[in-house]
Amino acid sequence: MTTDRKEIPMEKIMMKTPLVEMDGDEMTRILWQMIKDELITPYVDLKTEYYDLGLENRNKTSDQVTVDSANATLKYGVAVKCATITPNAARMEEYDLKEMWKSPNGTIRAILDGTVFRAPILVNGIVPYVQNWTKPITIARHAYGDVYKNCEMKIPGAGKAELVFTDEKGETRSLIHEFKGPGILQGIHNTEESISSFARSCFSYAYETGQDLWFSTKDTISKKYDHTFKDIFAEIYENEYKAKFEEKGITYFYTLIDDAVARVVRSEGGFIWALKNYDGDVMSDMVATAYGDLSMMTSVLVSPKGVYEYEAAHGTVQRLYYKHLKGEEASTNSIATIFAWTGALKKRGELDGIDSLVKFAETLEKACIKTVEDGKMTKSLSLISTCKNHVILNSLDFIKAIRETLDSLL
Ligand code: NAP
Ligand code: MG
Repeated sequence: MTTDRKEIPMEKIMMKTPLVEMDGDEMTRILWQMIKDELITPYVDLKTEYYDLGLENRNKTSDQVTVDSANATLKYGVAVKCATITPNAARMEEYDLKEMWKSPNGTIRAILDGTVFRAPILVNGIVPYVQNWTKPITIARHAYGDVYKNCEMKIPGAGKAELVFTDEKGETRSLIHEFKGPGILQGIHNTEESISSFARSCFSYAYETGQDLWFSTKDTISKKYDHTFKDIFAEIYENEYKAKFEEKGITYFYTLIDDAVARVVRSEGGFIWALKNYDGDVMSDMVATAYGDLSMMTSVLVSPKGVYEYEAAHGTVQRLYYKHLKGEEASTNSIATIFAWTGALKKRGELDGIDSLVKFAETLEKACIKTVEDGKMTKSLSLISTCKNHVILNSLDFIKAIRETLDSLL
């Protein structure tokens, strides 16, 4: 892609270690290229190891490319990922797939292990529905087990349901319910290993970002299951993080989930809220919407192995992609994808000691926010903006407007 403007006569920032670049699908794949061309490569001598996670190439490589990209992340430490299609029946036909490949995010998460942190990008003129939320609330969702790996049954009529655990010592049984008539039944599990790595990811991320950590479950009702989460967090905090938190002036706060919900709504934000899998699923959509828009949500996978994968929280924006394919004008918000790049560049800069790279990434983030605050935005933002006389730009013109702001800030 070319711009009609002259390239700025500045020295490009040099990188040391490559980023792992995971390309993706549909509208976000198009934004991906625009972002690189307009906002990154004119300023940074971009080093990446490129993996094409677009569905066509995943199909061609029998999904090996996804595994390779995750292994490269383990090797280099920082990845940036574009949104990707998770195939369903319709996609099987659309892309003539050999197999219904699994969710790339699921595959990557299984290799890297870890926790996904999601935080809204706050902009003046986009007022959260909860008006006292003046700082972002970051949701840390445990991404293993519980109802997402459940086993369920429909009970046809009267009978006895029991939990049975078998090992070399024999059987342990516990009565669930004596059914007198038809009903339903569900078994769920989690592992101490997964809960511990969830806890460590949360404590590390809170320490690194200098934010308080909240954690909440229903341990008063679930005295073994939820209580184990509470106990593991408490033990890891005491033994590994308490001193570090005190030194940084941040706190770890545990409370019951219902109390937490009430406190979160009354709070001003500015903390990390760790949640079990289902609670995190539900609360992250509530928090994202209450702050304004899904297209303004960042997402980073923090692995206990010390590696990071940055992405936007949203998907491939399929509806606007089809519009784009028909030659119609699309107005897609690229901010969360730009923040995936800035997050990764910043982390790379920190790890490699390149201050200019960190500073550039921070300035690009400021440029995104300032562009919207100056009244230039995409369609979905315009619907919730209180900014008077704003203009709605198409996908590319919005990125170009951000570039103009960036140049004025550099
Ligand atoms: P989506 O792409 O996030 O879109 C959800 C809705 O949010 C869309 O209907 C769109 O509104 C709006 N939206 C999201 N991002 C936007 C942006 N940047 N600019 C403007 N509007 C935006 O989710 P989806 O439609 O459920 O899924 C589409 C594909 O993405 C699926 O194949 C799914 O598998 C994949 N997906 C991938 C990831 C990932 O890789 N992390 C996450 C979620 C979904 P409009 O209807 O007005 O266009
Ligand atoms: Mg959900």
